[in-house]
Amino acid sequence: IYRGIFGSHTANVLRRLRRICNFYGSSPIFICCSATIANPGELSQKLTGKPAVLIDENGAPAGEKNIIFYNPPVVNRQLGIRRSSLLEAKTIALNFLKNKIQTITFARSRLAVEVLLTYLQEDMKKVAGAINRIRGYRGGYLPKERREIEKGLREGEILGVVSTNALELGIDIGNLDASIITGYPGSVASTWQQAGRAGRRNSISASILVASSSPLDQFIINHPEYFFKASPEHGLINPNNLYILVSHIKCAAFELPFTDGETFGGEHIDEILAFLADEEILRHVGGRWHWMAESFPAEEISLRSASTENFVIIDITEGAKVIGEVDRSSAPMMIHEEAIYLHAGQQYQVEKLDYEEKKAYVRKVNVDYYTDANLAVEIKVLDVFKEKNVANCQNYLGEVMVTSLATMFKKIKFFTHENLGFGHIHLPPEELHTTAFWFSIPENIGRLSPEEIKSGLLGLCNVMVNIAPLYLMCDPRDIRGVVQIKSPFTQKPTIYIYDNFPGGVGFSEKLYDMEKQLLKAARQVIMECDCEDGCPSCVGPYEEVGHGSKTFALNIIKGVLSD
Ligand SMILES: [Zn+2]
Repeated sequence: IYRGIFGSHTANVLRRLRRICNFYGSSPIFICCSATIANPGELSQKLTGKPAVLIDENGAPAGEKNIIFYNPPVVNRQLGIRRSSLLEAKTIALNFLKNKIQTITFARSRLAVEVLLTYLQEDMKKVAGAINRIRGYRGGYLPKERREIEKGLREGEILGVVSTNALELGIDIGNLDASIITGYPGSVASTWQQAGRAGRRNSISASILVASSSPLDQFIINHPEYFFKASPEHGLINPNNLYILVSHIKCAAFELPFTDGETFGGEHIDEILAFLADEEILRHVGGRWHWMAESFPAEEISLRSASTENFVIIDITEGAKVIGEVDRSSAPMMIHEEAIYLHAGQQYQVEKLDYEEKKAYVRKVNVDYYTDANLAVEIKVLDVFKEKNVANCQNYLGEVMVTSLATMFKKIKFFTHENLGFGHIHLPPEELHTTAFWFSIPENIGRLSPEEIKSGLLGLCNVMVNIAPLYLMCDPRDIRGVVQIKSPFTQKPTIYIYDNFPGGVGFSEKLYDMEKQLLKAARQVIMECDCEDGCPSCVGPYEEVGHGSKTFALNIIKGVLSD
């Protein structure tokens, strides 16, 4: 659980703890329990900063366990569209629930959790004694609500729960009989964790992975041997991410003044201390660095994300009651005005979003649709760390500013998923300062027209971003891609892939080092796909990438690799 941003923060919290312990003459021993990861010993050493002894044999008894990979059938061969994984997961879950089999259903987003929950609650209404026994669980529910659901699961009061990866591990909900995973969770480790929620000591259990149309899902479902042979991902952390490190050095200085030459987690930090003194946060007196700012530094840190602010959701149907929270970066998508905000299966419409005060005022409604917002993303190069020529393209690693703007939202009908219309969103853009890998290609590549290059680049970018997690061992949401037909920086058609965290955690750097490997892997995925003209399982849906994207993407790869 202590991986990525959260792990990087935790490592720094432990550095602070050890520093204080050391001051008082104590040296604690750490006992760490890991989930399914490839490098438990290494990760615990990085987290605690101390050597670790690894114990990795499991002698606990376990009942028979079945893992089923299920690919929903193709319903439109021409467009390569499969039956919705959400609707298929619903059907499978209902089979279990109607037979009183305690089931957890995982979905990949908060919205997907609420939509699936709505469907299951609707269907289970007809079953006697099932009311209130189907619940949702995700980030943004209030702690009291969460504790109640966890208890209900442990005690068997709750028959079915639909959850994001929030229930993947670390929370005691007992063992259930069945788990359904709606869409590949993005990593081998997460899949084993989610599957592991089903399984009792002495009875049979089942886990079912329902694939979506995305290239990564289709790769996994068509190459089950990859999944079963692959070692789970490495738990990666970067405690020295500058954003994270500096914020904890502030806290550490507040807790105990630093002395000249003191290291933090083995890092030399003189430059950072001097920077903080320039900013009038620390004062350098008599060989020691003292806290001088008026604020309390720990308040400015959110350990689970890099952004610190949450929006509060207030139900004003009767009086005013806080019902939940949304993190800042998701707010423009989830709680813009007119959005349908789904919470525990109840629908609310957002009447007013007070962006300054970070409050959304919502009212209970009963409608037949939910809303899904579009995000327009722009990227600007701030600095280049490295660049090199690879085949016929120029590769770069550097610092970028990503600006994302929620522009409009679609109204999507429950059950049929048809589009009922759209509305505009008027909110300020969000900015993300991070690291990126990008590469530019010649404008005259494969004698394609600018329109064809655009379509090919969009498709290629989709494939690369979707399969990169296989090589980076990261969650698919950890990286994002953007295409520019004529980049103001390179002056050429360019694909950018960036770390989706302020400051970056090192994924872009790995991509930069992969050179031709990712392009070759993308080509394999596109060529192996059965579709004729591109589909969601390779280059993406034609509404997004245009017709012919499959051919154009292959032409571009051929032109770049010239083989
Ligand atoms: Zn395809």
